[in-house]
Amino acid sequence: MRPEVRTNSLFIDGSWTAAEGGGERIVTNPYDATELATVAEASTADVDRAVRAARAAFDAGGWAHAPAARRAAVLTATADALQEHRAELARLETLDTGKTLAESRYDVDDSTAVLRYYAALVTTEAGRTVDTGRADAVSRVVHEPVGVCALITPWNYPLLQITWKLAPALAAGNAVVAKPSEVTPLTTVRLFELLQERLDEAGAPAGTANLVLGGGAVGAALAEHPLVDLVSFTGGLATGRSVMRAAAETVKKVALELGGKNPNIVFADADLTTAVDYALTAAFLHSGQVCSAGSRLLLQRGQHEEFITELARRAERIRLGDGLAKGTECGPLVSAEHRAKVERHLAGALAEGAVLRAGGARPTEPELQQGYFLRPTVLSGCHPGMAVVREEVFGPVLTVELFDAEDEVVALANDTPYGLAGAVWTKDAGRAERVAQRLRLGTVWINDYHPYVPQAEWGGFKQSGTGRELGPSGLREYQEAKHIWRTIDPAPQYWFAD
Ligand code: NAD
Repeated sequence: MRPEVRTNSLFIDGSWTAAEGGGERIVTNPYDATELATVAEASTADVDRAVRAARAAFDAGGWAHAPAARRAAVLTATADALQEHRAELARLETLDTGKTLAESRYDVDDSTAVLRYYAALVTTEAGRTVDTGRADAVSRVVHEPVGVCALITPWNYPLLQITWKLAPALAAGNAVVAKPSEVTPLTTVRLFELLQERLDEAGAPAGTANLVLGGGAVGAALAEHPLVDLVSFTGGLATGRSVMRAAAETVKKVALELGGKNPNIVFADADLTTAVDYALTAAFLHSGQVCSAGSRLLLQRGQHEEFITELARRAERIRLGDGLAKGTECGPLVSAEHRAKVERHLAGALAEGAVLRAGGARPTEPELQQGYFLRPTVLSGCHPGMAVVREEVFGPVLTVELFDAEDEVVALANDTPYGLAGAVWTKDAGRAERVAQRLRLGTVWINDYHPYVPQAEWGGFKQSGTGRELGPSGLREYQEAKHIWRTIDPAPQYWFAD
């Protein structure tokens, strides 16, 4: 059944509207390539209108200077609304992205938790007083909103990624223009419907939160717009570079959450059954379309043959299917173009000498022929010289490299332009801590993979990005520090003689 999605799906200056010029885009279900909805495709004139609406709302001050408790109440009410509409949102996310319902429910719950976290954090943020070194002066540092923030998100975690940005941006008192990926915009539209009602109830000025839809041209128009103060972008490395270049013109603040090529390091003393099990979720959750996917398995020589055999056996058993169906463990890739890109990586890897241990092809089941499926794939015999080991594939392709010593694996794991996340598996606590300390990554899991919480910062070292989402730093991204000095009873100081 087609979900109900409005066609006039841009939200600008407090109203739902179609695109100026009538631009539209069809959104499809990656499971069977059927049409899900037709949404508006913004023009640059729409982007300009949205940015100007946000600018006016921000400059009027009604939201920026509202008591933090009022802004927090909007976030809390939106979190409640997400839970009331949990089943509907999860279904919509699965239809749009292909991920399983269990994953989509998790995304709704995570988004809820992030809204609640920033609602709580912003009401306990009072800045700080500073010792002036003088009896006749007091001084304080406060954190103010940056202004108009453009929030640009990718297609793999649509609801979750936009909430990670919206929650701290609005908590801090900014006005925003959001742009989800053109491939999976549907839950963002629904989120804005829920958010708008709560902003209206709180008396926020029209234009506090705006939504534009469309592809790269719409994103670029936001990154270039002179009235935008900050761009928070999550997406690929090449696009991130172009956002940074565009932002340089008016020296916008830039927060970038980019790709990863994440090492999952398994020492020979790790429990084989558990480490194999986690290596599968690390690599194949959401068909590997996860920025933090553990797509580079680094195995210590010892039990490695047994490990790879078991990994391949279990990878072959992963059940592909409709994300809405019970029993499905992995959905399709997001689009035909994206699958073709992953297949090119795979062909390149085999040409470079990688050994195929599992998968490597599209499934043969008749019911999976319309969707963009690819079997979970395990490649052994890999080394850092191969493109498949160096580049982000963003699909269900796991490469296996072997190592002997601790120093060697640290060097291998760090030998990449990326630095997002990774894991180390060992029973030796000292070794786990030493390796965790030396990995140049924004997140390191010891004997686990993938968990995170709103309280802990998320982001990348090196070319995986700049800045952090989540945690207290996630709020700071959307704030400017201001120092306010007050002299109590000023009198001439006669620095220059009278
Ligand atoms: P993408 O870079 O193609 O697109 C991301 C967003 O940018 C989309 O909304 C797109 O329309 C927009 N865009 C495209 N061209 C633009 C331009 N010139 N200026 C401004 N915006 C533009 O990425 P994607 O394919 O949607 O997502 C996959 C990528 O996202 C992967 O590299 C993945 O690692 C990364 N990602 C990172 C994180 C993280 O937390 N670090 C999380 C999720 C995804």
